[in-house]
This record gives sequence, C-alpha cells and structure tokens, in this order.
Amino acid sequence: MSAEIPERNIVIIGGGIIGSTTAYFLIRHSLFSISRHSVTILESQSIASAASGKAGGLLALWAYPSNIVPLSYKLHAELAAQHDGAKRWGYRTLNCGSMTAKGRVYECTSTDNRKIEEPRGKWQSLPKLDQNTRPNRAARGVPEDLDWFDADAVIGYSSMGDPSTTAQVHPYLFTTSMADLAVDAGAKVVFGTATALDYTGPHGIKTVTYEEKDTKKIHTIHATDVILAAGPWTSHIFPGAPIVSSRAHSVVVKADVSPHAIFSEIELPEDFGKKERLRHQWHDNMASPELYPRPDGTVYICGGLDQLLPLPKTSNLVQCDLDRCQDIIDNISTISTPMRNGEVLVRQACYLPSVEGGGGPLIGETGIKGIYMATGHTCWGIQNSCATGKLMSEIIFDGKAKSANIESLDPRKFL
Ligand SMILES: Cc1cc2nc3c(=O)[nH]c(=O)nc-3n(C[C@H](O)[C@H](O)[C@H](O)COP(=O)(O)OP(=O)(O)OC[C@H]3O[C@@H](n4cnc5c(N)ncnc54)[C@H](O)[C@@H]3O)c2cc1C
Repeated sequence: MSAEIPERNIVIIGGGIIGSTTAYFLIRHSLFSISRHSVTILESQSIASAASGKAGGLLALWAYPSNIVPLSYKLHAELAAQHDGAKRWGYRTLNCGSMTAKGRVYECTSTDNRKIEEPRGKWQSLPKLDQNTRPNRAARGVPEDLDWFDADAVIGYSSMGDPSTTAQVHPYLFTTSMADLAVDAGAKVVFGTATALDYTGPHGIKTVTYEEKDTKKIHTIHATDVILAAGPWTSHIFPGAPIVSSRAHSVVVKADVSPHAIFSEIELPEDFGKKERLRHQWHDNMASPELYPRPDGTVYICGGLDQLLPLPKTSNLVQCDLDRCQDIIDNISTISTPMRNGEVLVRQACYLPSVEGGGGPLIGETGIKGIYMATGHTCWGIQNSCATGKLMSEIIFDGKAKSANIESLDPRKFL
C-alpha cells in the first residue's frame, strides 16, 4: 500500500499542541511507512513552551468552529481512552457555567505596595464565548457542589455545559505526551528556529533552514512537505500568513475544589482601595477571569488579553508582568475564599494566535507546493488540536481532508 506514496520528508515547524498532535496523527496514518517517510518536529525552544503549555485546557462541544469541534472532541476522548489520558494528562469531563458576582474587599485581598499604574482601559476577554453564550445576569440556581465561591458574592449562575459536552486536559501534559507518543512511533524532534524556507523553482518546497538552539549553528533539512504550525510566530517564518497575536496572563492556585469550569463576570467592589481601583480600572469596573479546576488539586485562572508588548522573537523571551498576575488574584479574591487563601503556584504569560480579521483556524494548503498551514486556533486550540492533526495527516497522505469538511478553513482563502 505505502509503496504508492513516494518518499516524503515532512517537517513540522513548531512543537506546540498543533505541531505535536499533527506529528502523532501523521505517524499513525495507514499510508505512513517508516522506511520511506520521515516526520520531524522542528521546535525553537522546547515542546509546549508557548500557549500550548500555558492554556486552560477546556474542551467543549459548544466551542467553535462547528465543522471541526465534534471530531476533535471525540478524538480527545478516544486518545484519553487509548493512552490512559486521565492519568497521563488529566483528562476528565466536568461541568461548566457562567457566574456573575459582586466582589468585596477582604483584608488580605491585595498585598499591594506596588506602583500605581495608569488605567488599563477596557477588559478584553478571551473570545471563547459568542454573544449567545455570554453570562445571563438574570439566571440563578448555583449547583450544590459549586461551593467555592462566597455565597454572598454570587448574583447569578447559568449552566453552559455538563460532563456530556465539556471536558478538560492539562495542556502541557497533553502536548508533551503527543510529542512523546509520536517520537515512540518514529518521529524526530529537532531543537532549532526555522529561519528560511526555500521553495524556488517549479517543484515547491525544497529545504528548511534553521538555527540550532544550543550551538546557534545554521543547518538545512531537505523537505518534501512543510507544515507551518508555529502559532503566533507563523508570520515570522511565512510573512504572508495572516496571523496576529495578543498576550494573556494566567496563574495557577493550589486549591482542591469541585469540578466546575467557571466563566466569571465580577463587579469589583466600590470600596476597593484607591491603589486597587486605579490598577483595576477596567471598563465599568468589571473583570471576567476564567477558572478551570484541575484534578491535581489546583485551579488555573486566566485574565484578559493585552497588546502592550509585541510578540518577541522566541517563546523564552515572552515577558510576564507580575502586576497583571496579581490583578487576576486580586479580582478573584473578592469573590472566592479558597482562591484568596490558596498558594499561588504559577504566574505566567503567553501569546494567543488569531487569524487577522477573524475566522480560522487555517488548516491545509497554502498554494505553494508542499507548504501547508495549521495555525490561528485562537482560544480553542487545545480543543481543536486533535481534529487539526488528523485532518493534516489526511491532507498529506490522502490528498484531501476526509474526516470533516474544512473548505471554510482553507488557508488559500485567507492568503
Ligand atoms: C490564556 C489562554 C488560555 C487558553 N485556554 C484554552 C482552553 O481552555 N482551551 C482551548 O482549546 N484553547 C485554549 N487556549 C488557546 C490555545 O492555547 C492555543 O490556540 C494553542 O495553544 C495554539 O497552539 P499552537 O501549537 O498553534 O501554538 P503555540 O503553542 O504558540 O506553539 C507554537 C510553537 O512554535 C514554536 N516556534 C515558533 N517559531 C518557530 C520557528 N521559527 N521555528 C521552530 N519553532 C518555532 C514555538 O516555540 C512554540 O513552541 C488558550 C490560550 C491562552 C492564551
């Protein structure tokens, strides 16, 4: 069978969740032959060193875009069953809801002696929810086991999903597991930053040039196929790519709480101290952190997006603003005692990759022979990673996407 497929040297640029799941599915494709084909992940820093290692990890049947969400959600469940994902990467199903709450100041809400900054303007949430799924301020009826918010703070709650429609993974553990499973089956990981693609001449892609991570030496790899999966950096290596980025901060707090992912909308207290009010001056004094409890006894919380610093050259140069992390902690501390009292284990920042003008992700051919794109996954890249990997493996080995209709995501429509 595989003799029909000519020799293929497939290079995936980027070892985030998209590159790693793509390697996993390519190497397990029925037409892949270890003697005739190679799959190489070329990663600038380390596997999952960017958003894929620092995301929330929510999976939902109510995510978008609807042409790949059901496939990806199903593949996540299958992979978890096949590789013991519950143990290996924290896969589990859970409830999800939106909560409106009115915060109050507690003595230990802020430890703030930091400098007062200029007001930061409108709170920019991650675009996970469309207008139809925004919190319903009128709704009530908090589930009984959702006991980790202060009762007098909660104004409304509305369910967005239950264990039949909502799940989660630990994104760092999932991404590194995908890469490890691909390597176990014969894929290669090379650490270096791709600096140039040579696609001169009539036959499309010929080589990828990269700078080796440790030695800074320049190397060239022969490639018959290149998949651009460098997330927000995709336009650095392929300047026509319509990919833009925003920075997002997040924290991880130690707290063993019931499994409800929460999209909060907090009215910050009137009596928030002067310093906090200046520092927290979001639109209407509202903040909307998202909270994802994890089975390891922690809660991941992410704040809003900002455009204060442009995307740096590599993921190890991303700057984390500790004030922004403290904002997240202070905001959530006004409505939840376990969050207020929990030890903050992680403070971090990363860049969200989006398609300029909206839409996406972009999955498929670029119009240059042998160069493909799998990028622009916005805030649902963890959810949509498996479908992206599976569909990319079909595009490469079968010549077209078979498991879903992804015409609307064809990069050629956006380039
Ligand atoms: C705060 C936050 C929370 C999120 N929560 C969720 C969630 O709950 N659920 C969900 O589904 N999604 C979530 N997302 C979205 C998700 O994290 C992203 O869509 C996804 O991680 C993008 O993956 P990626 O592989 O395309 O990019 P990245 O993770 O950015 O990976 C790109 C990789 O390419 C490498 N690279 C870059 N340039 C080069 C080069 N020239 N050569 C070689 N390698 C290169 C980088 O080092 C990096 O490792 C969240 C995002 C953010 C910011």
